[in-house]
Amino acid sequence: MAKYNTVSEEFLEELRAVVGDEYVRTDAVTLDTYKTDEEKDERCFHLPDVVISPADAQEIAAVVKLCNKYLVPLTVRGGGTGITDGAIAVCGGVVLLMERLDKIIEINKEGMYLVAQAGVRTIDIQKAANEQGFLYAGDPCSAESCQIGGNMATNAGGNKAVRYGVTRNQVYAVQIVTPTGEIVDLGAPLKKCSTGYCMEQLVIGSEGTLGIITQVTLKLQPLPPYRLDLLAVFTYPVQAMSVVPKIIKAGINPTSIEYMDNANVRTTSRFLEFSGAPHADEGIYVIVTVETFNEDELDMKMEQLDAICEECGAIDVLEADDRIWAMRRNCLESVSLISKVCTTDDVVVPVDKMSDMVKFIIETVKKYPFPLRINAHIGDGNLHIVLCKLDLSDEEWESNLRRFTQEVYTYAYAHGGRLAGEHGIGAKKREFLEEFTPAGELELMRKIKRAWDPNLILNPGKVFNA
Ligand SMILES: Cc1cc2nc3c(=O)[nH]c(=O)nc-3n(C[C@H](O)[C@H](O)[C@H](O)COP(=O)(O)OP(=O)(O)OC[C@H]3O[C@@H](n4cnc5c(N)ncnc54)[C@H](O)[C@@H]3O)c2cc1C
Repeated sequence: MAKYNTVSEEFLEELRAVVGDEYVRTDAVTLDTYKTDEEKDERCFHLPDVVISPADAQEIAAVVKLCNKYLVPLTVRGGGTGITDGAIAVCGGVVLLMERLDKIIEINKEGMYLVAQAGVRTIDIQKAANEQGFLYAGDPCSAESCQIGGNMATNAGGNKAVRYGVTRNQVYAVQIVTPTGEIVDLGAPLKKCSTGYCMEQLVIGSEGTLGIITQVTLKLQPLPPYRLDLLAVFTYPVQAMSVVPKIIKAGINPTSIEYMDNANVRTTSRFLEFSGAPHADEGIYVIVTVETFNEDELDMKMEQLDAICEECGAIDVLEADDRIWAMRRNCLESVSLISKVCTTDDVVVPVDKMSDMVKFIIETVKKYPFPLRINAHIGDGNLHIVLCKLDLSDEEWESNLRRFTQEVYTYAYAHGGRLAGEHGIGAKKREFLEEFTPAGELELMRKIKRAWDPNLILNPGKVFNA
């Protein structure tokens, strides 16, 4: 890890001159607020030395230059909904909040794109697009709290990825402040481009280590007027998984195919006080959303879906209302009913390997002292494995979790998978990324980081050891 200087009064004075006194905070309450993100395990918390809220890219650029001058690390924070400790300042220094960069700058209806500052909440982007008759297709379950810049930084997935792809597929261009403090525009609203390296795509998914994203230009889609959400209930996970290739091969082109095991069904219905959840005692849920531009097409696709679900062994096929989607969106939050500390893993495997991966996880966890629950974006092969600490000691939790994770990742890599589908690496999975990434690929990542950020100022301790 690089050697950093402690935050001096001189550095703070210069910061205040750039962003203004009221936006530079060092009081104990503020520092305590930003010691963690969604992380609940106190051993992962880290107090920053100072928290700042700059107004725009110019101020951010000046701050980054100061951090280089004084050798002080800087961690960007969006909505703080990350679950890999990405926004925790593990080396101390500055936490930079993006909350004041909250303007939607332009909605271009002819060109079908939207330009926004990076601190806008994802749900506000979605609403603004909808109001103009368009769809912004990025849709993480945390949309009400996360920011569009955070989605870019983690390359968030979400509920519409099976049809529209993940965040990187929704982006035309980004503006960044580089790790040395220059403001640079990358990309353009073009359908095609082969003009040099694709720099905007390198920044997307770099988790605040290669630049601070200050502005984004997002693709808009036509908003399909017809929609139906279907809930298929199964008894066995393998039956539920088997619908995916059939739906894809039938050309149904669904917007979402989501999965909740029965533990999730029970906990979320309790969490949301939804006593009428269908087959809550034993059912495994698959939610399929289909959207079309033609009513007859929707009817036809629903008939096809019904037949596929029955063929795969569904015990019931119903229309899903908002409460079913609320259950799916609250899989993570509802685990707080079971355990204060839990972990959500995020492995991704080729879609045709998903059934085997789930079978392996269910078999493997039997050797371990924690309960398992799985929710998944099954249309994308992306599984969220949730484990609860319950009353295990820190040592028991740590060693069992490490061994279990090692087994799961080894299996996933042997079957063409990766250890993070959409949540990123942060500080939490750094060692695993270093262990599982081929040496040549890891070294290329290190070289890029060192070339862009020679003083290792941006988000140190994240993704890999630079
Ligand atoms: C209930 C719940 C549901 C979730 N569902 C999903 C889901 O369906 N799909 C999914 O992909 N994720 C999901 N997540 C995880 C999380 O919401 C995403 O990773 C999200 O993209 C993080 O955005 P954020 O603004 O909260 O970023 P933060 O948590 O603040 O930061 C995340 C990382 O991005 C960096 N960062 C933030 N803003 C910027 C910026 N402007 N420039 C550069 N770097 C930046 C930070 O330094 C950090 O490394 C969920 C989380 C929760 C709590």
